[in-house]
Amino acid sequence: MTTQIKNVNKNYGSFNALRQINLDIKEGEFVAILGPSGCGKTTLLRLLAGFDSPSSGDVWMNHKLIANSTFFLPPEKRNIGMVFQSFALWPHMNVRDHIRFPLKHHQFLSEELKPSIDHRVDEVLKMVDMHHLGERMPSELSGGQKQRVALARAIAPKPALLLMDEPLSSLDAELRMGMRKEIQQLHQVTKASIVYVTHDQSEALAMADKIVVMNKGKIEQVGTPKEIYSSPTTSFVASFVGKANLIKGKWEGTAFYPFHQPSIKWDGTAVTSELRAKNLFPARPEQLELSLSDDGVKGIITNVQYQGKEIHYTIMVEGEQWVVHQDIFAEFSIGEEVYVHLKEWTYGKRMDERKELHFA
Ligand code: ADP
Ligand code: MG
Repeated sequence: MTTQIKNVNKNYGSFNALRQINLDIKEGEFVAILGPSGCGKTTLLRLLAGFDSPSSGDVWMNHKLIANSTFFLPPEKRNIGMVFQSFALWPHMNVRDHIRFPLKHHQFLSEELKPSIDHRVDEVLKMVDMHHLGERMPSELSGGQKQRVALARAIAPKPALLLMDEPLSSLDAELRMGMRKEIQQLHQVTKASIVYVTHDQSEALAMADKIVVMNKGKIEQVGTPKEIYSSPTTSFVASFVGKANLIKGKWEGTAFYPFHQPSIKWDGTAVTSELRAKNLFPARPEQLELSLSDDGVKGIITNVQYQGKEIHYTIMVEGEQWVVHQDIFAEFSIGEEVYVHLKEWTYGKRMDERKELHFA
């Protein structure tokens, strides 16, 4: 299913929860809506689901108008499935009945599925690895198992659009990682379009074809995970996704002079014009490197956090704090004077291409 959101605003009284939202979701696309708490993610998802209508603008699905300020198609008349953070299971129904329920009541159930509802229940239970637990009640399931039931229930009728609102945020860290893979596999098998709401940048980067970064009811940037990470267009995106240091300095074309120091020049070819206009350079913690030789930007180490495969340093540079992630082979300690360098920008380059860069 294709979905278009055109010039959508949503107001609660005088508060603008969504401002001029424009978004296209292609057939089979996995779109992540990423942003901090309160930025309007759930509000946007509720408009797609049909729980609410826009204050202005309109929503189209498969080129049919489904909502504007005066009209909206209710959820059961849209070919969608939904997964909530809270699982939303029914306490009196066992696992099989949860999955059977939408198959009995979904308006868009294909003729192919109608005669074989029990077969479909088995099939979906196997997909989420719950076939041995069909008779269990929700109170007899772990958090991860409950979330699997909620996923199975949503995909059982083969909806054309699957809406997920922070579906993994109530699971513990290890389970979340495992469920990410399962959701990716479900996407490949079902081929449904997915709109996946999250405040967790690593979830969005790991799973989505396209990321929509939102802030205060507005879209800040839309792009592939790589575009969002390697070329953030705004200072908000740079600091929210990947926690970039926003370093002040002077731009001359694509050359950047941190803190106006004429002797230190960084290549900023990949930095967008919006950040250049603000005299900022977004440097990821892993893009910076520390040394004791005095040809970088001078700073003092104020915090050290050992992480196993790397060490996270906080450096005070001209009254500002920078964060640098460095491998464990060189160690620095609090109070030490160091020099910060920009590493070569090699994102997206394979080893053979990188070699060419070095030997060119
Ligand atoms: P998110 O899901 O990104 O955390 P929400 O979409 O839930 O954010 O909320 C966006 C903003 O809209 C918040 O400031 C929230 O308080 C406000 N909001 C959401 N629903 C309502 C409502 N029914 N009435 C008034 N304000 C609301
Ligand atoms: Mg929310």
